[in-house]
Amino acid sequence: VTEVPAVRLNDGRSVPQLGFGVYQIEPDDTERAVSRALEIGYRHIDAAQLYGNEEGVGRAIAASGLARDELFVTTKLDIERHGRDSAREALDESLERLGLEYVDLYLIHWPRPAEDRYVETWTGFEQIAATGRARSIGVSNFLVAHLERLAAETATVPAVNQVELHPWLPQQELRAYHRDRGIVTQAYSPLAQGELLAHPVIAGLAARHGRSPAQIVLAWHLGLGNVVFPKSVRPERMRENLDVLDITLADADVTALARLESGRRTGPHPDEV
Ligand code: NAD
Repeated sequence: VTEVPAVRLNDGRSVPQLGFGVYQIEPDDTERAVSRALEIGYRHIDAAQLYGNEEGVGRAIAASGLARDELFVTTKLDIERHGRDSAREALDESLERLGLEYVDLYLIHWPRPAEDRYVETWTGFEQIAATGRARSIGVSNFLVAHLERLAAETATVPAVNQVELHPWLPQQELRAYHRDRGIVTQAYSPLAQGELLAHPVIAGLAARHGRSPAQIVLAWHLGLGNVVFPKSVRPERMRENLDVLDITLADADVTALARLESGRRTGPHPDEV
């Protein structure tokens, strides 16, 4: 496997740019899927309390025999557990399920603006980072307005914001904001949950490069500097999705992909969760 580039975070740590996501993997399939992903060469696993499969992730990590510092493991705070103490307790439970002493990255999964506790929750995350139980802390599904509130009311800039992002939803404004503030963009559902892959423009680029549609879309993400973690339970697709580091898109390819922007989401809008 070609070396996956490391992306530097604003806290001095770094994250492998390409990883493996475990959303919608059945709890009973998770150990097997993550074990295969680790065998194939993935070293960054994107998990969440909400996905209900942290035990399987933990069993695969334990069985892998890999040293802890060779792995980058993310989990995310359950949407029902905002609050300073609650965030810490929820992480302790995650660590128990994962069989780990720390996660590399802990994210507020959704801002829940109607509940309006994300600022308090973030102060809990700052304390968690100070204990080392999460090496880095960040957010997910935050809009600029939510990030602005953290900037105004707390002392720590999130290391990452993990948002839905793919050629239909390139998130230009948010990416520019992140760039200016030193926040790394993590692109979730990087393949639009697979729905984008039949698009004729992408199929055309795939044919021209002699690669698969998924590989073209992942190469686009890496070229933008996004961190990605496509999900698949099929080993051949896991391999395919990791085998993208040598693909260079031409400016004309990037322009063709930019024309696909439609604002289409595969998941909910952050203000509605
Ligand atoms: P994705 O864009 O990674 O698409 C996954 C689907 O695409 C697969 O189920 C499969 O149907 C298809 N696919 C994958 N590789 C393929 C290939 N090589 N060829 C053909 N089809 C292929 O969607 P996702 O799982 O939603 O996103 C990836 C990860 O992002 C998740 O597993 C999770 O870790 C994270 N995520 C985070 C949030 C959040 O709120 N923070 C939300 C959704 C997803």
